[in-house]
Amino acid sequence: MASQELIKKLEETIENVPDFPIPGIQFKDISPIFLNPKLYEEVIADLVAFSKGKIDAVCGIESRGYLFGIAIAVALEVPFILIRKAGKLPPPIISENYDLEYGSAVIETREGQIKPGQRILIHDDLLATGGTTEAAAKLVEKQGATVSQFSFLIGLKGLNGDEKLEKFNAEIYHILEF
Ligand code: AMP
Repeated sequence: MASQELIKKLEETIENVPDFPIPGIQFKDISPIFLNPKLYEEVIADLVAFSKGKIDAVCGIESRGYLFGIAIAVALEVPFILIRKAGKLPPPIISENYDLEYGSAVIETREGQIKPGQRILIHDDLLATGGTTEAAAKLVEKQGATVSQFSFLIGLKGLNGDEKLEKFNAEIYHILEF
């Protein structure tokens, strides 16, 4: 969906930082996008076009999922719901555990903000293994809503993140792949 021009601009803007935060990881730094408001607007327009008319609310994953997720929700005039790491949100909350490469983690959302029957877009900046996004999707389903779409700026090839999300039968979109 994204124009080749937008993809090219993002490829030139997103910085690849080798061996951060640990050796072997190629960290994709999206922060230079925010130095260029016009480019940010183009990214939002692209993500909004993907979701227009198809969702009732946006769930953003802490913290970089908020940077674009709120703008998508405002443009589509739908609610935005925060999915946060454990211990940040006040009660009542709903949580979901998920496995990391070593150990496990928990994400949470405020109970009652996602409404039963809503069609939800889950948004994050980047899809890697899909573990975090899968846990977010389980949180959405626990509240009787449906995951209709996933969107990301970046999909990392070779980590099979898309496969982990297939079971939700939702549309998956990333503007570009690395
Ligand atoms: P995952 O659960 O493996 O799909 O990891 C996704 C989360 O980790 C996202 O919130 C990303 O922001 C972050 N992340 C994972 N790998 C990278 C990477 N190579 N560069 C930047 N962020 C990453």
